Amino acid sequence: MRIGVLALQGDYSQHQSLLAQLGYQCVFVRYPQELDQLDGLILPGGESTTQTRLMIQNRLLEPLKHFAQSRPVLGTCAGLILMARKVEDPRVQCLRFLDVEVDRNAYGRQIHSFNEELKVNLNGSTVVLPATFIRAPKITRIGMGVTVLAEHNGFPCAVQEGKHLGLSFHPELDGVTTFHEYCFNPASSLSRKVAKASTHAA
Ligand code: GLN
Repeated sequence: MRIGVLALQGDYSQHQSLLAQLGYQCVFVRYPQELDQLDGLILPGGESTTQTRLMIQNRLLEPLKHFAQSRPVLGTCAGLILMARKVEDPRVQCLRFLDVEVDRNAYGRQIHSFNEELKVNLNGSTVVLPATFIRAPKITRIGMGVTVLAEHNGFPCAVQEGKHLGLSFHPELDGVTTFHEYCFNPASSLSRKVAKASTHAA
């Protein structure tokens, strides 16, 4: 499994070790041709306005849209903003992979960053996972086809639409591999849970 990480700006290198833990090959993506032969892509946290500028500069917008038609994309924080349908900031170019609207920086400034445990619904079971929010986007509206996997104070903060996943927070900073595995290899995370459930039953 070869997973790309958009490596224009932000905390892209943090995803490398998570991918290694899962046994996936990590490819840093800066130019369109680097999307070839990838099985999935991560849009990392950082600054969505800067990331937009660099995506335009490197002519990545259309190749990314084409890529997402057939392969899964996981967006964390700024990555979620880029994946949204709409954000009220003309400096951000939304890729529209997820039918959600987001409000940038709605969880406060850098000094208001926080870590909290979230109840996450995956494959019909609930897992409790730590989540770090840093100048995080709030998901203010979701479309009909969007599934909410986790909420924070009544607002969705982990969402799925088809093969794509968007998170307001940073699993890579807490060493949480669950979302990466769920996004890029749902069959394996599902079979592991089923295996665990049958061990309990026995
Ligand atoms: N506030 C940033 C933005 O709007 C996102 C912050 C992050 O990725 N931690 O792009």
